[in-house]
Amino acid sequence: MELHIVCIPGDGIGPEIVAEAKKVLEKVAEKYGHKLDMKDVLMGGASIDAYGVPLTDETVAAAKAADAVLMGSIGGDPNTSPWYQLPPDRRPEAGLLGIRKALNLFANLRPAYLYPELAAACPLKEEISRAGFDMLIMRELTGGLYFGERRTVTENGVRRAVDTLTYDENEIRRIAVKGFEIARKRRGKVSSVDKANVLDSSRLWRAVVNEVAKDYPDVKLEHVLVDNCAMQLVKDPAQFDVILTENMFGDILSDEASMVTGSIGMLSSASLNDTKFGLYEPSHGSAPDIAGKDAANPIATVLSAAMMLRYSFDLDAEADAVEEAVRQVLKDGYRTGDIMSKGCTLVGCRQMGDLLAERI
Ligand code: NAD
Repeated sequence: MELHIVCIPGDGIGPEIVAEAKKVLEKVAEKYGHKLDMKDVLMGGASIDAYGVPLTDETVAAAKAADAVLMGSIGGDPNTSPWYQLPPDRRPEAGLLGIRKALNLFANLRPAYLYPELAAACPLKEEISRAGFDMLIMRELTGGLYFGERRTVTENGVRRAVDTLTYDENEIRRIAVKGFEIARKRRGKVSSVDKANVLDSSRLWRAVVNEVAKDYPDVKLEHVLVDNCAMQLVKDPAQFDVILTENMFGDILSDEASMVTGSIGMLSSASLNDTKFGLYEPSHGSAPDIAGKDAANPIATVLSAAMMLRYSFDLDAEADAVEEAVRQVLKDGYRTGDIMSKGCTLVGCRQMGDLLAERI
């Protein structure tokens, strides 16, 4: 198979972690007989330095022409980087919002998986973390409260602010379909999260999710109120497989789910549109404090590449091989600084990439 991938190394540790993910992809291609066509383009601070803007039409066109985009991370230290002297729409993060919009990426996927070898980093009680967990938060990314009409007015000397939460049934249906499709590739359970006891938008959400569920009789569906879900994530995270939810609930719950793993350098993510196309990136930022020191953990980016193999290319065996290589490296006791613990062997970003590629 030919894999056309556009890479956006980005800023800070971005180029270092993307280089290691490419190394692993090259090994996958060699072992499984695929042809890799990878092209680098600029975005974020690197694009500001080269072209004066965080996202160019050329970068958008290159991404649109590819099957998938693999991204490092963008941005610098907001306190010291000159990029943050620019107006907000010319700063690095504007590039990220711009490309998500240009590519119509409405579904954001963030897995939260507790590796037994890293269980000590999990902030939950040992009797809860012992059970482990392996969930995926599927968040609607282009609708809801963050995109509704908003205004602040002063009436009779009193300031009043209004935000609106709007969803139409088509927006709900397309994300629900993605959620059920992905549950089929996992353990076959969807927990749809809403606030249907209060919000009309949630009542519509629940009704449409129930309609979509009829096409997936092999997937188990449950509805969970968002406040209960926030509690269950710390009480019994093992119960969840796919959590399907709207934009703001997903923003909050995905951060909660990632924090209970305790290891930011391990967390991958994907943003998908209604084709097989996706943008894959680690959940963490550009870590300017450790950039250029060969100290970054490339695993989140490598796992994002595994998601790309699974969701954009349907290469499940190849994705499994990458995930298994990560498990094996951890089992063999190799750690980057962010996940280091007593008795393990400290390695840099490059060596971690080599160790992962060796295990494919
Ligand atoms: P951050 O995630 O970059 O860093 C937080 C802490 O985690 C730092 O101590 C960092 O060294 C560490 N860390 C992060 N990733 C690591 C890795 N792979 N290996 C080892 N340690 C790692 O968050 P921040 O400091 O708040 O943000 C830095 C910059 O990143 C900002 O400009 C921010 O806007 C940007 N950012 C970009 C994205 C993105 O590109 N999607 C996401 C979040 C933040």
